[in-house]
Amino acid sequence: MSQASETLFSKIIRREIPADIVYEDDIALAFRDIHPQAPVHILVIPKHPIPKLADAQPEDQALLGHLLLTVKIVAAQEGLNKGYRVVINTGEDGGQTVYHLHLHILGGRSLKWPPG
Ligand code: 5GP
Repeated sequence: MSQASETLFSKIIRREIPADIVYEDDIALAFRDIHPQAPVHILVIPKHPIPKLADAQPEDQALLGHLLLTVKIVAAQEGLNKGYRVVINTGEDGGQTVYHLHLHILGGRSLKWPPG
């Protein structure tokens, strides 16, 4: 597991590896997770590669807000009218495996709490 800012998500942004992209703007990209944990499982990432939430800086405030508003747009686009879950796995104990900040959108079924 690499903590370098260049990950496979940078390759997805550059279209060097394929992904099922469902949303894109100047700041963010959203694509379907390759190993979905729910009927809808989408990752929202910033094009600027912050490795993990713990690395975010005060100047990233607008970017972080943009990512949450992107989640809202994508969830509506996917018809998740009954709700959904947004997850940011952060660092080793958080279960993060790709060190390019990403928000998981999970929906399309009733989700249990607490997570594992
Ligand atoms: P994390 O465990 O870091 O929170 O989430 C990384 C996510 O990226 C996992 O859910 C994993 O399935 C997904 N993932 C890993 N490699 C790829 C890939 O090449 N393409 C796509 N679409 N998703 C990937």
